[in-house]
Amino acid sequence: MEKTLSLIVPVYNEEEVLRISFEKMDEQMKKIGYPYEIIYVNDGSRDGSMKILREIAKENPQVKVRSFSRNFGHQTAVTCGMDAAKGDALIIIDVDLQDPPEVIADMVKAWENGADIAYGKRLKRKGETIFKKLTAFAYYRVLKSMSATPIPLDTGDFRLIDRKVADVFLKMREHNRFLRGMSGWMGFEAVPIEYVRNERFAGKTKYTLKKMLRLASDGIIGFSDRPLTLCGEFGAVLLTLAGLGLVALIVLACCKVSFPAWLWALCGLVGLNAVTLLFMSLQGMYLNRMYDELKDRPLYIVAEELNME
Ligand code: UDP
Ligand code: MG
Repeated sequence: MEKTLSLIVPVYNEEEVLRISFEKMDEQMKKIGYPYEIIYVNDGSRDGSMKILREIAKENPQVKVRSFSRNFGHQTAVTCGMDAAKGDALIIIDVDLQDPPEVIADMVKAWENGADIAYGKRLKRKGETIFKKLTAFAYYRVLKSMSATPIPLDTGDFRLIDRKVADVFLKMREHNRFLRGMSGWMGFEAVPIEYVRNERFAGKTKYTLKKMLRLASDGIIGFSDRPLTLCGEFGAVLLTLAGLGLVALIVLACCKVSFPAWLWALCGLVGLNAVTLLFMSLQGMYLNRMYDELKDRPLYIVAEELNME
């Protein structure tokens, strides 16, 4: 049977770009040649986006729309699109044309050559503030250094995923979602497709600072236990210092060297605080395990089987 593609496009207050974005994406999808659907997820837009989506859907049967009751956030909108998608490969793309639709063809080629995931890797980011570029640059590197999950640098959610990857996403129902981390956690054969990130075609970013911080913490908390181990390591360092201080004071006392008595108290204080930190970190480890169990991710993912009937 012929393979099909699903394009997933989250939309939040995007009336300025929606129509032109649809035209460009639709044109690219036609060029690629597979039967396709374009799934728009309206993430609680309060502008005219939904009206435009109704018009587009009326004229184009390949366009499907799911509209949220309120703003649930970009990662949830993409997940909703994945839930609805019927294609053999799913492509996730922003509506604002920052991810160039021409790159989809390269992703599809990589998929035809056997890639399970073809992810967009940003060579350059045009038209974004220095603040955004700097924080993004630093964030991806901090995350990489903290996380045991391989999360490629400078990579967003613009990617193609094969049906088998999408099926694993369907099983991962964790609420604080960081899709690029989840994708890294799954493994599979992932191929980078380099591209230059365009300026937003029109309108302003819908990722407020608050939303960005939220996504950043979802990435770190969901994919690293470093903050917890850090607390323990800090405790261990403090305990060592307190111990050394205590030994030094005992030696001084034995040699009858005088020193202020509050130094005993200081060592005791630092030592006790260190013990508290160590136990907090220990408790954190249990919490971390509970969190892991609650996420209820699949225990393993089989990518291929031979002679297994
Ligand atoms: N978006 C969304 N819900 C939100 C915020 C953003 O669905 O709460 C969509 C938005 O319409 C766009 C994509 O997510 O298609 C990326 O958002 P944006 O371009 O504003 O982020 P940036 O590129 O500035 O990081
Ligand atoms: Mg954008």
